[in-house]
Amino acid sequence: MAVTRDSPLRALLGGRTATVLAEQLGISTVDDLLGHYPRRYAERGHLTDLAALRVGDEVTIVAEVRSVSQRRMRNKRGTLTDVVVGDGQRSLSLVFFNQPWRAKQLAVGVSGLFAGKIGIRGNQVQLTHPECEIFGATDQGLDQDSDPAASVDDRERAMTYASQLIPVYPASSGIQSWTIARCLRLVLDLVDAVEDPMPEAMRERRGLIGLAEAWRKIHQPESMADVDLARLRLKWDEALTVQVTLAQRRVAQAVNPAYPRAVREGGLLDAFDARLPFVLTAGQRIVGAEISHELGGHKPMNRLLQGEVGSGKTVVALRAMLQVIDAGAQAAFLAPTEVLAAQHLRTLRSLLGPLGIAGEFGAEEHATRVTLLTGSMSAKARRAALAEAAGGGAGIVVGTHALLEEVVQFADLGLMVIDEQHRFGVEQRDVLRAKSAAPPHVLVLTATPIPRTVAMTVYGDLETTILTEVPAGRAEVSTSVVPTREKPAWLDRAWARIVEDARTGGRAFIVCPRIGDDGELDKKATGMVDDGDDSLQPLPDDQPPGDEGSAATKRAPMAVLEVADMLRKGPLAGLRMAILHGRLPAEEKDATMQAFARGDLDAMVTTTVIEVGVDVPEASVMAVLDADRFGVSQLHQLRGRIGRGSRPGICLLITGTAPGTPARERLEAVAATRDGFELARVDLASRREGNILGAAQSGRRSGLRLLSLLDDEAIITESREEARYLIALDPDLIEHQALADQVARLSEDERADYLDKA
Ligand code: ADP
Ligand code: MG
Repeated sequence: MAVTRDSPLRALLGGRTATVLAEQLGISTVDDLLGHYPRRYAERGHLTDLAALRVGDEVTIVAEVRSVSQRRMRNKRGTLTDVVVGDGQRSLSLVFFNQPWRAKQLAVGVSGLFAGKIGIRGNQVQLTHPECEIFGATDQGLDQDSDPAASVDDRERAMTYASQLIPVYPASSGIQSWTIARCLRLVLDLVDAVEDPMPEAMRERRGLIGLAEAWRKIHQPESMADVDLARLRLKWDEALTVQVTLAQRRVAQAVNPAYPRAVREGGLLDAFDARLPFVLTAGQRIVGAEISHELGGHKPMNRLLQGEVGSGKTVVALRAMLQVIDAGAQAAFLAPTEVLAAQHLRTLRSLLGPLGIAGEFGAEEHATRVTLLTGSMSAKARRAALAEAAGGGAGIVVGTHALLEEVVQFADLGLMVIDEQHRFGVEQRDVLRAKSAAPPHVLVLTATPIPRTVAMTVYGDLETTILTEVPAGRAEVSTSVVPTREKPAWLDRAWARIVEDARTGGRAFIVCPRIGDDGELDKKATGMVDDGDDSLQPLPDDQPPGDEGSAATKRAPMAVLEVADMLRKGPLAGLRMAILHGRLPAEEKDATMQAFARGDLDAMVTTTVIEVGVDVPEASVMAVLDADRFGVSQLHQLRGRIGRGSRPGICLLITGTAPGTPARERLEAVAATRDGFELARVDLASRREGNILGAAQSGRRSGLRLLSLLDDEAIITESREEARYLIALDPDLIEHQALADQVARLSEDERADYLDKA
């Protein structure tokens, strides 16, 4: 039987083991199993540090038996065998009921692997009925397994631990680490003949070992040096697969030419530039010229514009849209939420002035129209908007996801601008693209700086441009951590500061992690829709709430409704205050935002609905409650909402976390710098890889198991070069079938899920 990477394990391992692997670990093919890498390696002569064990952990440990005792149970019939194992310092008790033979199996001095869930009785940590694998044993009762994988002969069993390094696999209750190791032994012997997807020349150039060798070295290493060699090669595979996918996507995008939308002198863009109330920054001019040039070409533009909050991306985008309108086409401007769409509409209309009201009284020559299309519009307004889009009357259609609906048609869509891209995926871009005969140019705007490695991996099909400069005359924003544990009085000062500021015309945002009404629970069930804009980033995995013993984490996070109530009655009594969150009706949200912008409100208690793009120059104070509940980038975004005018801003990160905890350190980092790229790195470091690619994607789903976006910049950069070179010569990978298969496996398996986040 020819074994390939796609062969089902069922045929190789026998039913029970295959079922458990599939059901509990999602492993069903040879490739899945080979990609189930050891979590760590135990050393044979080296016992696990028992002090590090925590109650509730599923563990596999190496330990030595110190003492064995057996007695009849007091209240029940039967025996209780208590085997104490140790690491030299600490001990751990293994408890067995009615298995008197364990006393013989686990004699004093025997060492092996023990697996189970750490429990506690009295003050002794214990494993009840752990799975056991004795080193060098030949007479172990094969009591549970009758699978071929388990019925290895003595010789093979002895060989298992001939090596010093014992792979410890992510296991589950139904299958032990050593059973997985046994399955791998079987499979490894069968895959030596599998073709290596990496071209030999590339392997040599980069000093990498072959794939079959890498699999062996990661699963059965003789030394840690083996493991390193294997990891390097396997990381390369992950990086190369992603980069080849992206390189192919680029090539495919270039196949359908775009309509060139070259600059037309004396048109709308020129008229707009003439009435701009400020001078463009150098950055805006350079980026603008680059975009303008691309819009004039046949190659569809696919550009990601990263700019610090307040760097003036909207003006850059608007100028691009005007160039396209001058060329006779239309632009769509996609915003992630209704609040933002409404605000963009206002911003664009006010920037355009008489240039944005074609057909109305006071319109200027060359004028166009800006239309809004969102999900919550009345049927009548919606019909009008649809007609303006389809008839070409609207040069710019601003909208939310509603723009993606099938009924929405454009006369000639030339440019798509996607604001704050992280909520739109490739699929959604494709839907919009399909609304146009030739692919429209695409400009994606993001204010969340993206580390280079992430840009190259997750957004790899977009060219990136960075706008760093912030227009002159912007006020400073200072950020402080307000630790409510150590300095409770600082909180009163924070409120006093808001009152003081309001007196002189300043305005405050008070941000809470939660809304605090009943709807919150439903939301998870319904999934994120248009106004899922209160969503909190998941906390970094390594940092579960409550783990820091903080008082703050014991109670529910602060909620808008409760906090507003408390502030109205107490510290902010007398201020004009309103609440804003994603589940208010669209008109109400809009009315509140406008009242705040006009200065009819002093303070707004809100969720992260204001995270992106909201622009109120007088906003001067931001107080973030339970700030530790927010991600680093999210806080940076939030802070970008203040200090947008000439009034200096102050951002207060209020937290109940203890000093020195990771959560507190993240807040200190935000307070210490306004450099978004620096913070993006901090953010990256505080999350597991899977979370970078989206909350729902574990490393497994994303295809990135070993590759670290934080540490493997060199591999990512080099593999990108290799991929581009390879795809330029052989775009369909005809000469590289094994690599083509590997690429297909990634996109099939995971539906290139994380690539779609771009
Ligand atoms: P962001 O990059 O965060 O989206 P915006 O485009 O919203 O920033 O711009 C922030 C504010 O700065 C807006 O009020 C905008 O009109 C203003 N602005 C943009 N460019 C300039 C400039 N060159 N000089 C002065 N103000 C500018
Ligand atoms: Mg913006």
